[in-house]
Amino acid sequence: MKKTRTQVAIIGAGPSGLLLGQLLHRAGIDTIILEQRSKDYVLGRIRAGVLEQGAVALLEEAGCGARMRQEGLVHEGIEIAFRGVRHRIDFKALTGKTVLVYGQTEVTRDLMEARETAGAPIVYEALNASISDIETNRPRVRYSKDDVEYEIECDYVAGCDGFHGVSRQTIPEDAMRTYERVYPFGWLGILVDKTPLSDELIYVNHPRGFALCSMRSATRSRYYLQCRLDEEVSDWPDEKFWDELGRRLDSEALKQLQKGPSIEKSIAPLRSFVAEPMRFGNLFLVGDAAHIVPPTGAKGLNLAASDVAYLSRALIARYGSNSMAGLDAYPQRALARVWKAERFSWWMTQILHRFPEPSGFDEQIQAAELEYLFSSKAAQTALAENYVGLPY
Ligand SMILES: Cc1cc2nc3c(=O)[nH]c(=O)nc-3n(C[C@H](O)[C@H](O)[C@H](O)COP(=O)(O)OP(=O)(O)OC[C@H]3O[C@@H](n4cnc5c(N)ncnc54)[C@H](O)[C@@H]3O)c2cc1C
Repeated sequence: MKKTRTQVAIIGAGPSGLLLGQLLHRAGIDTIILEQRSKDYVLGRIRAGVLEQGAVALLEEAGCGARMRQEGLVHEGIEIAFRGVRHRIDFKALTGKTVLVYGQTEVTRDLMEARETAGAPIVYEALNASISDIETNRPRVRYSKDDVEYEIECDYVAGCDGFHGVSRQTIPEDAMRTYERVYPFGWLGILVDKTPLSDELIYVNHPRGFALCSMRSATRSRYYLQCRLDEEVSDWPDEKFWDELGRRLDSEALKQLQKGPSIEKSIAPLRSFVAEPMRFGNLFLVGDAAHIVPPTGAKGLNLAASDVAYLSRALIARYGSNSMAGLDAYPQRALARVWKAERFSWWMTQILHRFPEPSGFDEQIQAAELEYLFSSKAAQTALAENYVGLPY
């Protein structure tokens, strides 16, 4: 077994692991990032696309802001379509803030390039990662690569390995509490190299189900449809997708819709999930390893960024001035913000989707909620404040 040592071992090279690694590296803290997949596989995943100002600022702090500033699209609001009428929520006017549309794939690419330029270690295709001794001050991470076994001794482990990773599973069951809601539908998404139908995102509440007109750039559109959980991508040839989307859009939007062959198509189930606490011994959970939100509020990637902000500051204080206060406060600080984003994502999901409910009561409440939202500046401000991101 080949042995090595670092200060912080980071498991996972998604946005959480790469961003944490970059911030710590710039502060002079040694890290090794382990990723079970290949670099190309990680870069091929199509996921989030909306960045809050806090996430943008953090990426700039990490030295990864140049291309994002150049290519990202500033959005000052969103539209919500209900009963065939579109209502605009003006973030800029309501909060003075905006969001930036810049795909998670691009964020990941920028962070990977920054790490390579810095010459900091990252091991792709690191298999069978296991974590031990987390209750001691010498935790260990073992993995294998090309049939060779490795062991890293470290001070801390950052579990940035997503919902299915090994980090959360390392924490004893009786030391953790989980909270979960699984929604009775999924999102069928397609990516297409066509100009988006609108400059802003359009969220659609329609009797046939939710739809979202989104984008990743000025020439690349991302569209979603609420679908059943038992449906497969193969049930949805492109033509069927465009027909169904057309049925859920208003006539003006439909006129602007540019259809084309999909370059990616996938179904994502919707789930709310939180694991508490986000620390066990010297293992810290970050991002999707600790929490999942349905994508309706565009919060998944942004929550990963706020966790990274809290943890990177805490580790920098630990190594800079030997202060443990930030590390001790990490779970509480991170979770306070996580739960607010969980609430907002649940609420957006609740008001925009069609739920299977026979009595019609939920549908009437949903209509009342939306009508109140469209008529009340206070309600719109509450939505806008959460969408652009709560402070951290
Ligand atoms: C299909 C899908 C669509 C999404 N769409 C949206 C969206 O539209 N909007 C939005 O805001 N959010 C969306 N999200 C959520 C958002 O992408 C995540 O919140 C974000 O990726 C979290 O980043 P992370 O780094 O914490 O986790 P991840 O991005 O999941 O990264 C974890 C990394 O750890 C690696 N890993 C896992 N296990 C191990 C192991 N044992 N050893 C080593 N490495 C390991 C994984 O390969 C992965 O690279 C989506 C998520 C999914 C899954």
